Amino acid sequence: MEPKQTTPVSQLGEFGLIEHLTKNFHHVNSSTLKGIGDDAAVLDSEGKKTVVSTDLLVEGIHFDLMYTPLKHLGYKSVVVNLSDIYAMNAQPKQITVSIAISSRFTVEALDEFYAGIELACKNYKVDLVGGDTTSSLSGLIISVTAIGLADAEDLVYRNGAKEGDLVCVTGDLGAAYLGLQILEREKRIYIEHPEVQPELENSDYLIGKQLKPEARKEVLKFFKDMNLKPTSMMDLSDGLSSDILHICKQSGVGCDLFEAQIPMSEEAYHMALKFNLDPITCALNGGEDYELLFTIQPEDETKIADEDTFCIIGIITKKENGCVLVTRSNNRHILKAQGWNHFE
Ligand code: ADP
Ligand code: MG
Repeated sequence: MEPKQTTPVSQLGEFGLIEHLTKNFHHVNSSTLKGIGDDAAVLDSEGKKTVVSTDLLVEGIHFDLMYTPLKHLGYKSVVVNLSDIYAMNAQPKQITVSIAISSRFTVEALDEFYAGIELACKNYKVDLVGGDTTSSLSGLIISVTAIGLADAEDLVYRNGAKEGDLVCVTGDLGAAYLGLQILEREKRIYIEHPEVQPELENSDYLIGKQLKPEARKEVLKFFKDMNLKPTSMMDLSDGLSSDILHICKQSGVGCDLFEAQIPMSEEAYHMALKFNLDPITCALNGGEDYELLFTIQPEDETKIADEDTFCIIGIITKKENGCVLVTRSNNRHILKAQGWNHFE
């Protein structure tokens, strides 16, 4: 096999590198008036409200390059930001990407990372309109900013949930967390026994949810088509039990969530048992699922009833009720930000 060619970043220089990394990006949104190349990008808000969200990702804290392919990392860095824009019921239009890189990153490695960014831009129809590039003494640092547009009346905040509203989630929960457990296990085995083949069979779904998550863009279209406006919404990044607390706190309400109704995939359920973890704890505290958590008025229930994507998992109550998990055996546990513990 030919050795893979590697080019040090210093060979291109900062401007050469930016030009090289961004040459394949072409704009698709009419709201992008000026992208990369000037002192600032120029965007047209087209008479709408602008929605902005930023994330900062640090190697060793938010990602581990030992088991994260750079292309997946580029894709995920963008998607998790777009998820925040969708969670406002807004359409993402542009992103900026800033990176701090150490000398161990070659031009080819950065090409992989930008290939993931490019794929996310294509799949979600957003334009890369700028960023910043600098060096780092240690690991890779990534900051992505996403910009979106919405009509003022369409925006959905975290503070609109009312008593009697139904609490809903998309998809299923806990999968990304269990994917991470598998990757961490294989990493430990690899460090101790590099000759052992990884045992990743039958875990494509879980590992995929961890390494290459998708944002729920089709759900916004569904809301629009059904003339359904959630009363509150956010995306699930930290885990259901801490994220529902944000909605309840900001809305000044409580909730009852029903353990029996919290959706989990077969794969996640069985993997939790294999790891000696309580499946419901994984679903509640796992995080990084990037599903949407939202509340709807009870009269809108029929609009989502036939859709497999949605699960009604609880009901909004008075604030005095607190935020409660009702277990299968009808016990009531107060939900905590760190999650709920079976053994309390
Ligand atoms: P400045 O000196 O004004 O910060 P730069 O030389 O850093 O400008 O950037 C030149 C252009 O390239 C700008 O449009 C900037 O937004 C864009 N850019 C810089 N780094 C990146 C990157 N990593 N990804 C995408 N665009 C970038
Ligand atoms: Mg700069």
